[in-house]
Amino acid sequence: MGLSEFGLIERYFKGGMAARGDVLLGVGDDAALLQPPQGQTLALSLDTLVKGVHFPEDTSPENIGYKALAVNLSDMASMGAEPAWMLLGLTLPAADEAWLDGFCRGMGRLAAEHGVALVGGDTTHGSLTISVQICGFVPPAQALRRDGARAGDLIYVTGQIGDAGLGLQLALGKSGLVLDAARRDYFISRLDRPTPRVAAGMALRGLATSAIDISDGLAADLGHILEASGVGALLDVDALPVADEVKALSAEWWHLPLSAGDDYELCFTVPAAYHAEVEKAMSEIDCPVTRIGQIEATSGLRLQRNNGDAVMQAKMGYQHFE
Ligand code: ADP
Ligand code: MG
Repeated sequence: MGLSEFGLIERYFKGGMAARGDVLLGVGDDAALLQPPQGQTLALSLDTLVKGVHFPEDTSPENIGYKALAVNLSDMASMGAEPAWMLLGLTLPAADEAWLDGFCRGMGRLAAEHGVALVGGDTTHGSLTISVQICGFVPPAQALRRDGARAGDLIYVTGQIGDAGLGLQLALGKSGLVLDAARRDYFISRLDRPTPRVAAGMALRGLATSAIDISDGLAADLGHILEASGVGALLDVDALPVADEVKALSAEWWHLPLSAGDDYELCFTVPAAYHAEVEKAMSEIDCPVTRIGQIEATSGLRLQRNNGDAVMQAKMGYQHFE
């Protein structure tokens, strides 16, 4: 028998992972006491990772800790919120100290980087499950919601999409591609260690009309914006920021970035008049962005090649848009 539940909390979680002056009382009492900044709205979100469902059995504890927080930070990013506090619900099969060391290293590094304090949680015994509830701040009326896209708005994505999808195929030995070790590691790290676009989300306050993080593939996630906003979109398939290796997968390579998730890049819409301002704001924080299409009044998602060919939606199997 290793550590008791209380010993474990004391040793691994009491430190809070990042110090903040607005944490009046953190881990150790029946509830945390927190001081929200005056005049700001709280943005709250929770995401759970279950072993065997959200990550394979052999995932390292560092990567599990990192990703459990990264996916929550990504939700803050897509709302334009500044992350501040988190609660951690941990269900563990055993009090394995080597596992906990790795988990806290992976999560702690990212928490420190973003100044997110661990202020409490719950620890239980059972099959490995990690829940993180995160709380951030956003000025009222500046949150980036899904329902604000309007016909004529430009559609952008940050970074490169489809990388994590290829990473998953490589990890499962399914891609059929032969890559050198560095490129292989790059794609797998995009799956295991996505970069939450927190600074980009905050820089888009007051500029973007809608935003979402890409966790389920561009078609599904942009689809949520279209549905919530009551609009449609025309995407330029050839403009999608996609790695050469993804384009080498098949003649119809766009299936991957459209349908594979886990990139945790942001997709957002911007009034056409703001395009220069947005591109400048993103370049100031070194966040690559690419314009990939335009919002239209007619509902549905239409895909077009740059030679003018329409890509058949039904053939691509995106039932969501039929
Ligand atoms: P209670 O029985 O009052 O719910 P717990 O024994 O569950 O108290 O937790 C004791 C303290 O440790 C609380 O402050 C709780 O927030 C904190 N805590 C428990 N588990 C975790 C965890 N996994 N991460 C961070 N804090 C935790
Ligand atoms: Mg409890």
